[in-house]
Amino acid sequence: MVSRVIPVEQFDLVIFGGTGDLARRKILPGLFRRFRAGQMPEGSRVIAAARSEMDDADYRKQMMAAIKEFGGSETKDTESLEAFVQSLHYVAVDARGDGGWSELAQLMRDGVIRAFYFSVGPGLFGDLAERLHQHAIADRDSRIVVEKPFGRDLQSAKALNATLAQHFREDQIYRIDHYLGKETVQNLMAVRFGNALFEPLWNSHYVDHIQITVAETVGVGGRGGYYDKSGAMRDMVQNHLMQLLCLIAMEAPNQFEADAVRDEKLKVIRALQPVDFHHIVRGQYEPGSGGPSYREDVENPRSHTESFVALKAHIANMRWAGVPFYLRTGKRMKGRVSEIAVVFKDIGHSIFEGDEARHRNILAIRLQPNEGMDLQVTIKEPGPGGMRLVDVPLDMTFADALGDEQEVPDAYERLIMDVIRGNQTLFMRGDEVEAAWAWTDPIIEAWEARNDVPKHYDQGTAGPEDAMMLMHRDGRRWREIKG
Ligand code: NAP
Repeated sequence: MVSRVIPVEQFDLVIFGGTGDLARRKILPGLFRRFRAGQMPEGSRVIAAARSEMDDADYRKQMMAAIKEFGGSETKDTESLEAFVQSLHYVAVDARGDGGWSELAQLMRDGVIRAFYFSVGPGLFGDLAERLHQHAIADRDSRIVVEKPFGRDLQSAKALNATLAQHFREDQIYRIDHYLGKETVQNLMAVRFGNALFEPLWNSHYVDHIQITVAETVGVGGRGGYYDKSGAMRDMVQNHLMQLLCLIAMEAPNQFEADAVRDEKLKVIRALQPVDFHHIVRGQYEPGSGGPSYREDVENPRSHTESFVALKAHIANMRWAGVPFYLRTGKRMKGRVSEIAVVFKDIGHSIFEGDEARHRNILAIRLQPNEGMDLQVTIKEPGPGGMRLVDVPLDMTFADALGDEQEVPDAYERLIMDVIRGNQTLFMRGDEVEAAWAWTDPIIEAWEARNDVPKHYDQGTAGPEDAMMLMHRDGRRWREIKG
């Protein structure tokens, strides 16, 4: 198999928050894998910046341990790991103060790509943009990578966009949603737009409904303080599920190019109808075998924040008229599953005697576990005794189909390399983020206004009973979440 990888130019990547959880678990291990794959050009550097005082040697030691812990089997290649950590540097910088900025400015080199990853709390994004500008550290070609959450409502997202726009052009701003960096998500576009098979059926004539599920088995973990002010709607639906919805529902862009793709995604968000409140279920997990209740986890006995949301959405355009999009996401659920399922209409009339089942083709796109796709098709059950029909999956797990698992890069490493290449296709544009908030804001505001109490659900289930009813009322069923 010949693969074409677009080379990257030499770069200096500054990671603000380079000692934090995200840097240790995802960014540095991901960069190491790209280094090992030969994608980090000779002389490229990673410069970590945070407030703690330490030198390059301390930082390298810490990151060596972190990469070994989170970097998978490739870290057994200690020679490469030793070589990689030599490209790491550290400078103590306070995003809100003056300390460290002139040292950082001195470290920067001309003639290489400058990228600045804002891997710090969202309250510091504006400070960093301002100081990069003030200290003339960012140049006209520099890129900034902005982590989530991008605002907590339309107003704050607009304000953040405006602050960033004072110092950076839109083509310099990379708003990250790591779901877009997943192999399967990009494959969704390849499958839709690269095959004659699917696109003709991708509309209300043939599609009965679409389900998007992002289920986690974990609770809020150590993020309780943040999460309780946010909830599943802000933390997952407004960004990740919305992005998946866009990719599944958008029209074909005229080419696979950043703004062409993002224009089409934006049209989907703008075409979303306001959600009927009878079509939303909020939930909160109770204590169970997985651990304490949500309220105990966030240390707020009266919390009304949701750890689960299920809803039915409609897109008001010709392609999707009348086709429901069912979205659900939650914590402490039965299994860890992220998938999009396109459920096609049944054939209407069966020519086979005694066949009462309603056979449906389902294209399931799995983001996890086992990134891949399967297409449920109806065939004859083998053996004598007439025509008995059975539904079987045509399964394509990418790791099996395309070689061993390590060749599928993690979302973060792919996205960071796209930043260096200057490719914004898999990043959210400012207007997209604002449109997504404009759709979710009225829902959240209504919950807050009436102090809506979420339905409780048992840990290890598929969420509150009402979420099942949301589907049952329509004569449909959620796909099973396997434990
Ligand atoms: P974290 O573990 O709390 O790390 C924060 C980092 O920022 C540390 O390196 C900290 O180091 C630095 N920092 C804090 N205040 C600073 C200041 N005033 N000036 C300079 N540096 C400062 O947070 P995280 O989990 O890595 O998350 C970082 C960002 O990624 C957040 O926006 C988060 O929402 C987002 N995110 C994280 C994850 C994840 O899995 N962790 C997933 C998705 C998104 P010092 O204290 O030494 O300054």
